[in-house]
Amino acid sequence: MAIESSASPSPAFSSFTHLECTRCGERLARDGGANLCPRCRGPLFARYAPPRLDRAGVSGRARSMWRWHEMMPVGDPSNVVSLGEGGTPLLSAPRLGAKAGFTDLWIKDEGNNPSGSFKARGLSAAVSRALELGHTAIAVPTAGNAGGAAAAYAARAGLACHVFMPADTPPVFRVECERYGAAVTMVDGLIDACGRLVAERAPLEGWHDVSTLKEPYRVEGKKTMGYELAEEFGWELPDAVLYPTGGGTGLIGMWKAFEEMEALGWIGPKRPRMFSVQAAGCAPIVRAFEEGKPVSEKWENAATYASGLRVPKAYADDLILSAVRASGGIAIAVEDEAMRRASDEIGGSEGLFVAPEGGAVWAAAKALKISADLDPLARIVLFNTGSGFKYL
Ligand SMILES: *Cc1c(COP(=O)(O)O)cnc(C)c1O
Repeated sequence: MAIESSASPSPAFSSFTHLECTRCGERLARDGGANLCPRCRGPLFARYAPPRLDRAGVSGRARSMWRWHEMMPVGDPSNVVSLGEGGTPLLSAPRLGAKAGFTDLWIKDEGNNPSGSFKARGLSAAVSRALELGHTAIAVPTAGNAGGAAAAYAARAGLACHVFMPADTPPVFRVECERYGAAVTMVDGLIDACGRLVAERAPLEGWHDVSTLKEPYRVEGKKTMGYELAEEFGWELPDAVLYPTGGGTGLIGMWKAFEEMEALGWIGPKRPRMFSVQAAGCAPIVRAFEEGKPVSEKWENAATYASGLRVPKAYADDLILSAVRASGGIAIAVEDEAMRRASDEIGGSEGLFVAPEGGAVWAAAKALKISADLDPLARIVLFNTGSGFKYL
């Protein structure tokens, strides 16, 4: 800058500059309100022009997902809608690891997030942006936890919330949404049918659709898991990450975070192998991975008690598959019964009451060791994405 006043201007809270289509590269205005690419309907990513940012300085801030605010999409701090999401523990899991010969096993425990799952991260970001853009009502299709998180953050922000969930979703998820004041519609069908209803009704009713990866900001919340992993391991990413995949938002988000951190000069080019774990009763990503396809096909009659994994067709399946492949990872499915046993093992070994999705990744780790697809000496992170209390 040519002219400087004596007092240097305070750096911007956010360095968010524009949106970019992940499929065709179209660039869109930051505050134009686009949810999807108007040209090809591809998912949009927020892009940043960060100032020189000192990672140690950022680490010194309060332990919250919003400590990374320069790399978050909210421009005005007064629009941040927070319930204390993020900053979750990364726990070493030596007893659990020893059960299968793993020597450097870790669990990122997302179960203590507000509303009991890591959906809190995504919805904190999406609802903050909804508020910033002037929306007064949001709508969301959910397999369970996204509804609760959307309802909680909407309540906190003073926005109305409309949740659409499959009629056979366990009652606790509905009750939770209603406690947070949301209007809940039970739908005859799975999350994709719920998504179609939201897409139809949102424009008529004036609702802002926060379906994952059909709006740009839930992935921004979930990417903070990637920032936290790097920071907690001293800015050296682990060798492998096992992630229970429904819509894939967290996996895609972390992959984006790694790229951003390398651009910031915070980490080098090393990436973890990303393992996408699904349920045998709903494994569209695994099938596409095994068939070498760039996108998945809808999984018919999807069934698993891990409700977060009951997503028959992820909207951004192309991004999930390309990240898994680029990382040298694998997509793998596990049976519900194996998840149950694995959840008990985690509980009995490490004192964590995990969601079935958390059990799924441990079951997958053991299977990958047997098939020699995972080195037992590697530094491995399992994601427990939710609390077990909702699945009683
Ligand atoms: C939603 C959900 C998942 C899947 O997360 P995505 O990022 O959408 O793949 C996994 N576990 C739990 C507990 C969830 O609620």
